[in-house]
Amino acid sequence: MPIVVQKYGGSSVESREQLIAVAERVASLRSEGYDVVVVVSARGSTTDSLVSEAKLLATDPAQRELDMLMTAGERVSMSLLAIALNSIGCPAISFTGSQVGIITDTKHTDARILEVRPYRVVEELEAGHVVVVGGFQGVSTAKDVTTLGRGGSDTTAVALAAALGAERCEILSDVDGVYTADPNRVAGAVRIDEISYEDMASLARYGATVLKEDAVRFAEREGIAVLVGPSDGGGPGTIVLESPDAAPAPVTGLTLLPGADLIEWPGSLEDVCDQIEELDRSVSFVASTGERTVAAVDRRGRPSSSNPPSGDAEVRPVDLIAIVGPDGGTGRVAGKLVRVACGLGTTIAAISSAGRATVAAVRPEESERILRALHAAFFPATTSSPRR
Ligand code: ASP
Ligand code: MG
Repeated sequence: MPIVVQKYGGSSVESREQLIAVAERVASLRSEGYDVVVVVSARGSTTDSLVSEAKLLATDPAQRELDMLMTAGERVSMSLLAIALNSIGCPAISFTGSQVGIITDTKHTDARILEVRPYRVVEELEAGHVVVVGGFQGVSTAKDVTTLGRGGSDTTAVALAAALGAERCEILSDVDGVYTADPNRVAGAVRIDEISYEDMASLARYGATVLKEDAVRFAEREGIAVLVGPSDGGGPGTIVLESPDAAPAPVTGLTLLPGADLIEWPGSLEDVCDQIEELDRSVSFVASTGERTVAAVDRRGRPSSSNPPSGDAEVRPVDLIAIVGPDGGTGRVAGKLVRVACGLGTTIAAISSAGRATVAAVRPEESERILRALHAAFFPATTSSPRR
């Protein structure tokens, strides 16, 4: 039977009623003749609560223990969902990431999947079971439990879909698709029907939380189309794939990434290359005039004590705004961004434009206003009447 992998986000399995609704949706998919693998996130804000609990005991808890702790959240969801499925007559079994062979590197709290060996999933599907998997977790090559970075259940779902040769991979939550901007921040934001892996990965990198960047990259590598849609089935969602059908618009979407740092060093790139290297994956862009060097740093999910800038660095809190799309990294887009921000009397602390994205570091208290003005400038037609 064809396999469908469905991932349900934490806000869709928070209450008992929601768990029952998810179980019913899964059971009905099963009765349509599919083998179903369900990946679940921790319920509601469980992961945040667990991390806060640890931080009350230690300012810098051991990353290995944080992984043990955080994976408990997904265990609760997966076992409860399996119980709910069994209780409505749909035979189901739950597994941790480690049990379904999700092998990762050893980087605790932000591990990469190296390989998936889904033998147990295949066996259980063949035995007629729905398989429920705790998302966001795996087991490292050193046999320790790891997590895949915040939002990592998306990556679990795509990785399993790839390993199983699934017909579909669906990322389902309380968000009904990918929008031209976060609809909670921008009233005129419009749902996008189809989006390329490339643009989706950039939107995720610069703050969109509907789908994790690693998951998009994984899907791209494996050629898996991913549907991002509402968990209640009440809408078409957004399909993430290689090349969307519609003629590409110059700009696909805008994002806001709050809580970033702008680090400024007195010195050339060469003077500070060690410090830049330490920023590793969290660096959004680096620019230098020769005398001064700045780096915009994404602090998502990373304790502020890691990578403290050394020397005479000055650190300023900023929000990052990104404009993404086929023309996203052009001077035309960068120039328009600057014109809009200056027209509002706001300040841009630093800007980078390359490839398919322009990224601006702005003052946190001005970011939402700039985002809304930019959306109106880049999507004029959607502000009053939806275009797609
Ligand atoms: N529960 C984890 C988190 O809150 C993973 C996920 O939701 O995908 O980040
Ligand atoms: Mg998520």
